[in-house]
Amino acid sequence: MTAPAHERTSDDLIKAEEPVLAHNYHPLPVVVARAEGTWVEDVEGRRYLDMLAGYSALNFGHRHPALIEAAHRQLDRLTLTSRAFHNDRLAEFAERLAELTGLDMVLPMNTGAEAVESGIKVARKWAYDVKGVPADQATIVVAAENFHGRTTTIVSFSTDETARAGFGPFTPGFRIVPYNDLAALEEAVDETTAAVLLEPIQGEAGVVIPDEGYLAGVRELTRRKGCLFIADEIQSGLGRTGRTLAVEHEGVVPDVLLLGKALGGGIVPVSAVVARREVLGVLHPGEHGSTFGGNPLAAAVGTAVVELLETGEFQRRAAELGQVLHDGLAELVGRGVTGFRARGLWAGVDVDPAIGTGREISERLMREGVLVKDTHGSTIRLAPPLTITAEELRSALGALENVLGAAG
Ligand SMILES: *Cc1c(COP(=O)(O)O)cnc(C)c1O
Repeated sequence: MTAPAHERTSDDLIKAEEPVLAHNYHPLPVVVARAEGTWVEDVEGRRYLDMLAGYSALNFGHRHPALIEAAHRQLDRLTLTSRAFHNDRLAEFAERLAELTGLDMVLPMNTGAEAVESGIKVARKWAYDVKGVPADQATIVVAAENFHGRTTTIVSFSTDETARAGFGPFTPGFRIVPYNDLAALEEAVDETTAAVLLEPIQGEAGVVIPDEGYLAGVRELTRRKGCLFIADEIQSGLGRTGRTLAVEHEGVVPDVLLLGKALGGGIVPVSAVVARREVLGVLHPGEHGSTFGGNPLAAAVGTAVVELLETGEFQRRAAELGQVLHDGLAELVGRGVTGFRARGLWAGVDVDPAIGTGREISERLMREGVLVKDTHGSTIRLAPPLTITAEELRSALGALENVLGAAG
C-alpha cells in the first residue's frame, strides 16, 4: 500500500513520480509542501528563498493575503458558469484590466499559450476582415529565440529544436527574424502581414533586453506598414520590470497585449488578450471561446491582482529593489559572473562555464537555500516575488557569491 503523503520523504516522492509522471520536466530535487510570501518549505521543513516565483506567476509572492481572501470569498459564492451565461464578476475584471493597460477590450482565457493562440487567431481574423489580406495568406512575423508556449502552432515558430523536434507537421504562416533587428523586421513585413508578435524582453532566452529604441521602432514600423504589434507580456508584465508593462519603458502601447502568469495571482490560471476595440471587435459569437475562460473565480482573483497593481506599490518595489539586484550582480562580474542583463526584479546571469552549468549552479544554490532556474547553458534566471525585501535579496546574492566562490 502507498503510504499517505505526510509520511513520505522528499526522496520517496521524487522516486514515486518517475514511473507515473510524464518526464517533460527535470525539476530540481526539492519537494515543496507549503509556502508563504517569498519563502517555500519542503517536506522535511527546510526553508528556501524562492528566486524564481513560478516564472513570474508569483509576482505577489505565495498566498498574498488579499488574493487568498478574494479567492476564498469567491469560492464560497460561485466558481464556474461557463460563458453560456453571464457571471457577476467578469465585467469588473475586464473594465479594470482595460483601464490598467490603457486598452479597450479583454478576451479572457486561462493559460499563457491560450492567450498567444487567441492573439494569433484574432490577428489573422483582423487581417482578413479589416486589412483585406486574401483568404489564408496572412503571415505573422516573430523573433528568433522566442518563447510563447507549447501548443502545436506555437512550437511551429519556435527556434528551439528541443521544443520542436518530433512534433511536426507544423502550422504555416510564420516568418522568423532575428530579435532586436529593425532592418530584418522591415524586410519581413509585407502586405500579407497581420502582426508582429514579440516579447518586449525575451525571458526564456535569458532575459534578453533589446536595445533602447527597438520597441518604439517596432511600434513605428507596424503602424507605418499597417499591421498589428502584439506584445507577449506573459512573463515581463504586471510589475516585474518596474512598470506595469515592459513596453512602458519605451512609452509604447501595442495593439494587442498578451497577459498570463501573474494575472492569476499564483492561485488559478488566468490569461487574457487585451486589445484595441477595432482589433478584438473582429470576434463574433461562436468564433472563439473557452469553457473556463472568464470564470468567476478567475475573474475575482484577476480583479484582486489588478487592484494590487493599481496601487503602484509593486512596480515601485521592482524598480527600487531592481537597483539592489543590479548593483549586487555588477559586483559579481569577473568573480564567477561573466555578464548579466537585468530590468526591475528580473535578471539573466551568465556564469563562467568553468564553474558549472546553469543546472549545477541551481543545484548548489538550492543547497544554500535559494531556488532559481537555469535558462540554458550557464545562464540562470533570477525573478523573485516583487514582495521580496532588500535583506532577502542581499542574502540571495550572498548565496550566489558563495556558490561561485566556493566552486572557483
Ligand atoms: C510562460 C509563457 C508563455 C506560456 O504560458 P503558459 O501559461 O505556460 O502556457 C507564453 N509566453 C511567455 C512570454 C511566457 O513566459
